[in-house]
Amino acid sequence: MKKIVTKFGGSSLADAGQFAKVKEILLMDEARQYVVPSAPGRRFKTDDKITDLLYKCHRQVENGEDFQETFDLIAARYMDIAEELGLTVDLGAALDEVNEKIAAGANADYCASRGEYLNGMLLADYMGWRFLDSATVIKFDAQGNLDAELTNKLMAEALADGVPTVVPGFFGSFMDGTVHTFSRGGSDITGAIVARAVNASVYENWTDVSGFLMADPRIVEDPREISMITYKELRELSYMGASVLHEDAMFPVHKAGIPTNIRNTNDPSHPGTIISLDAPFDAAHPSITGIAGRKGFSVVSVEKAMMNNELGFGRKVLAAFEDHGVSFEHLPTGIDTMCVVVSGAELAPVREKVLAQIVATTSPDTITVHDYMSVIATVGRGMVHNCGTAARLFSAMSKAGINVRMIDQGSSELSIIVGVDDADYESTIRAIYNAFVR
Ligand code: ASP
Repeated sequence: MKKIVTKFGGSSLADAGQFAKVKEILLMDEARQYVVPSAPGRRFKTDDKITDLLYKCHRQVENGEDFQETFDLIAARYMDIAEELGLTVDLGAALDEVNEKIAAGANADYCASRGEYLNGMLLADYMGWRFLDSATVIKFDAQGNLDAELTNKLMAEALADGVPTVVPGFFGSFMDGTVHTFSRGGSDITGAIVARAVNASVYENWTDVSGFLMADPRIVEDPREISMITYKELRELSYMGASVLHEDAMFPVHKAGIPTNIRNTNDPSHPGTIISLDAPFDAAHPSITGIAGRKGFSVVSVEKAMMNNELGFGRKVLAAFEDHGVSFEHLPTGIDTMCVVVSGAELAPVREKVLAQIVATTSPDTITVHDYMSVIATVGRGMVHNCGTAARLFSAMSKAGINVRMIDQGSSELSIIVGVDDADYESTIRAIYNAFVR
């Protein structure tokens, strides 16, 4: 039987009106049997997210300040929702318990997790569905890493009876039962875990946008929506800075071969974006899937004649970064040059030490550092089907008068990565977008 796991983000459950939309969506398809809620998000631009208020309570207790005013704001949000929806759940008792535990100095993770916990209680009551406390089924090891296999087993067992269930997002617990959260935005991961555990046909991630856009709308005016993307393409775009979905949410579903569908709670008839293992290439679609990038890189170029004859040269260069805790992002190389692209902010505090170590261990002819470089990835599974993609991309950049400082095309042919001055970041994205889409 078809099973759908849904996850609703904070803005989708920000007030009673949004809860009503969620209920309608859930009842629209009887395959939607499992739902993962976030905590109530912002109702308007200047509003507070419940999670932020819960962290604030924790900080106030830590600083010996009164947190009651902050807690009252939280309680009022939940009470309003419960009252407007006519719920019967004993929210007062649950709120009192949370209040007491925060006052007694509960840890930050416990405090923050109550946003999802309480919202899950409300949603379960509203739907007439079972509530499953995520702390009993999502398990972390002592280092705080998810124990994916144990979690999958516990979750699958808990949901094996097929009873429609609400599983609050964002948290689980250590082996001793102490509550632990994922990083911010982590309800996406909970949704993916549930989808894997019940072997869902699809993982629907409901938010307030109708899927992914081909480029950042703050840079490109009215960019096209992406109807289909593969997990690999999305991984490249997210790595380069595009964000809608928590990065770690892709792994459980990708591994299990379950597609993710990004949907809009405020526009439920819109099909959104489908992320799948193997999206077919659509010839009618632009040959690129998306463009994303980041600013603020530094490029360390090491030059030495005949470096290719020197066994271990690359390792020694990279060791200088590793020894100082700087991870490299890209590694374009020439015949006698090796360029290491790193985050400028990570390099800055240890720059002189890294350079001195490279000089000491490899005796290069020259070593130079260029700062303020942007890295932009043009991603598309369609690139392999089209010759001339690179020519089109670089001629668009040259027509726009943009100087290419670095080129890096992965052997997967899934993306072409270019480095440009930070000042050219926006115009590069626009030039590439216009060349392929407009
Ligand atoms: N409520 C948490 C946050 O604001 C987790 C989530 O919404 O996914 O980060």
